[in-house]
Amino acid sequence: MDKVYTIGSKSFVLDQAKAEEAFSAKRIINGRDTMFFNILPLKYQWAYELYKNMKNNHWEPEDIPMQKDIELWRGTELTDVERWIIKMAIGYFSAAEGIVGDNVMHVTRELVTAPELKLVLGRHAHEENIHADSLVYMISSLGINPHECESMFEDIPTIDRKTDFVVSNSKGLRRDMDLTKTEEKQAFAKNIFLFGQCMEGTQFYGLFGMILSLYRQNKFPGIGQMFRYTLRDESNHIELFRNLFMDLVEENEDVWTESFRQELRDLMAEAVSLEKAFIKDCLPVNSVGLSSEEFCQYIDYIADRRLEGVGLEGLNPGVKNPFPWLAEMMDIKKEQNFFEGRVTEYQKASALGNVDDDEL
Ligand code: FE
Ligand code: MN
Repeated sequence: MDKVYTIGSKSFVLDQAKAEEAFSAKRIINGRDTMFFNILPLKYQWAYELYKNMKNNHWEPEDIPMQKDIELWRGTELTDVERWIIKMAIGYFSAAEGIVGDNVMHVTRELVTAPELKLVLGRHAHEENIHADSLVYMISSLGINPHECESMFEDIPTIDRKTDFVVSNSKGLRRDMDLTKTEEKQAFAKNIFLFGQCMEGTQFYGLFGMILSLYRQNKFPGIGQMFRYTLRDESNHIELFRNLFMDLVEENEDVWTESFRQELRDLMAEAVSLEKAFIKDCLPVNSVGLSSEEFCQYIDYIADRRLEGVGLEGLNPGVKNPFPWLAEMMDIKKEQNFFEGRVTEYQKASALGNVDDDEL
C-alpha cells in the first residue's frame, strides 16, 4: 500500500514496492551498486545505532589536561619500567591506529555495499584519526622525540611481527576482488575477523591493561583518561566488526566451512602468541605491581571471549580473568561528568532515531 506524504501544498507518494526492492537489494557484500548514499530504508539497524552511539562518545584530545603527566614525566620518581611502558604504548599505537583506519577505508568500507555500513565505517575511520591525534598530543605534551617512537616501531622485532601480521593481509585485499567466489568471500571474512577480533579485540589489550594499571595507581591521569576513551571507542569497533562478520556469514553460508572455522581459530592462536611475546618486551621484569604472566593469561581470556563472540570455540576453556578490576575500569558508560555539557550537546535527539521500521 502506497503512503502519501503532504508537505504544504504538495504531496508525495512513496512507492512501497520500490522501497521494498531497495531494502532487499541491500547486502553486506554483492548488494546493489548505487551512486546514492541511500541510508533509508535501513536494513542493518545495528549499524545505524552504533553510528549514533559512537557519535555520542565523541571526544577531543585537547580537552584532556596533561599537566600532571608532564610533571611526572619530567620528575625523578618514575621507574625505568614505567617510562618504557609509556614509550611502548605511544610507539605501538601511533602506528597501529593508522593501520586500522587505513584498512577500514581501503578494504572494509570499499567492499561492503549497504550505505548504512559505509556510514558507520566512515565514523570508525574518523575515530582512528582521533586516536592517532591523541598520540600526537601525548608525544608533544611530554616532549618525546617522535623519531624515537618511529624507530622503536621499526627496531623492535615483536612490534614488527605484530605489524606484519595485519598489514600483509590488508595489502593483499587491496585489489579488485571477485566476491562471488567462496575463497574471496572467505578472504574478506578473514580480514574482518583479523582486524576486529584479533587486532583491535585482542592485541590492543596488553598495553591497554598496562596503561590502565598505571592509571589505577594514580599515575598518568591524562594519558590514562585518553586510553579509557580510546578503549570505549574500540569496544564499539569490535562490536561493529563482529556484527559485520556475523551478517556476512549468515548471508553467505558457503563461507562457514569446518576448515575455515579452524583457520580462524589458528589465526587467533597466532595473534595471541605474537601478543605474548610483545608483552614480555613491554614488561621485561615484573615491576610496579605488574606481572607479564598475568598479562599473558589476560590475553588468553580476552581471545576466548572474542572467539565465542563470533560463534567459535575458545582456545583455553575455563581460563579466568586475572584482572577483574580492569573490566570495571573499562566500563565508563556510567560516568556522569563526561565533558559536562558537551556530551548532552552531542546527544541531540534526531528525528531519524525514532522512526519505526514499518515507516521506512
Ligand atoms: Fe583506535
Ligand atoms: Mn579502533
